[in-house]
Amino acid sequence: AKEKGKNTYQVYTKEMNQESFRKYCLERDMRKAIELNEFEVYYQPKVDAKAEEIIGAEALLRWEHKRFGSVSPGEFIPIAEDSGFITEIGTWVFKNVCQQLKEWEKNDLPFVPISINISPQHFLKKDIIELVKTSVAEFGIDPASIELEITETSLIHYSEVVQNTMSTLKDIGVKISLDDFGTGYSSLSQLQNFQFDTLKIDQSFIKNVLIKKEDSVITSSLISLAHGLGMNVVAEGVELEEQLEYLKQNDCDQIQGYIYSKPLRVKDFEDLLKKGL
Ligand code: C2E
Ligand code: CA
Ligand code: CA
Ligand code: CA
Repeated sequence: AKEKGKNTYQVYTKEMNQESFRKYCLERDMRKAIELNEFEVYYQPKVDAKAEEIIGAEALLRWEHKRFGSVSPGEFIPIAEDSGFITEIGTWVFKNVCQQLKEWEKNDLPFVPISINISPQHFLKKDIIELVKTSVAEFGIDPASIELEITETSLIHYSEVVQNTMSTLKDIGVKISLDDFGTGYSSLSQLQNFQFDTLKIDQSFIKNVLIKKEDSVITSSLISLAHGLGMNVVAEGVELEEQLEYLKQNDCDQIQGYIYSKPLRVKDFEDLLKKGL
């Protein structure tokens, strides 16, 4: 197999095993997935812990591949990040969500702010600002109804670039949250250098919050730290009543997880917003 470089894809050879053949196919086919209409944005509610109302949602991408069926973003996003195609995907998702927000507004439907995942590679590019600026203007939407979710990986390098990008985006009026907190390399003290609106505690901590003492200590400490720095806290991957209780008792602001809802297609999400939880 050939060396894989940016914006190129591997040439298939007989020696490739099944796994790398699948990867090769996914990398090749995602370039057509947009025009073939194979991508779809799902929405997972974020729920106010006290009021138990839906106060936001995360946009999560789904890919229905002709041959492989449903491919999870956990599999194809890393491939897109490796090949550089993630910028195209991120742009498509961002515009798709803007269009959806516009549609909800136009049809007088109840809607909530939407969070969009932005890969580090995309976030570190200048055109992210251009994308946000032009899309918000083009679709005529309130920037405050958009939140960008970035991971710690975006923070490791180029912290000056990141800080500038963040402050420009915040001037435009979008919100920014730090996703998967606790899984990367950034330190707690680094948090104060960036003005995040929201901190999302990674699901790995939530999973063991009742089982492992360390994870419950980390979770409650992160909540008070975030509050101390003026940030909102979202707990992700909440599945059990006992986890929910722990998070409520420790003053977590928002809950995202199967306990309330899985990611939903637009129609089902609209129905849920109308009828409530
Ligand atoms: P993430 O940003 O951490 O998103 C949360 C993931 O946790 C989603 O997986 C969601 O379906 C899942 N989840 C939510 N609640 C629960 C729960 O209670 N239990 C369990 N077991 N899982 C829960 P999903 O949709 O498969 O996405 C996986 C990852 O793929 C995302 O993790 C994100 O990193 C990436 N991703 C998804 N859509 C996009 C996108 O549009 N752009 C980019 N750059 N990345 C995306
Ligand atoms: Ca996320
Ligand atoms: Ca996350
Ligand atoms: Ca994650």
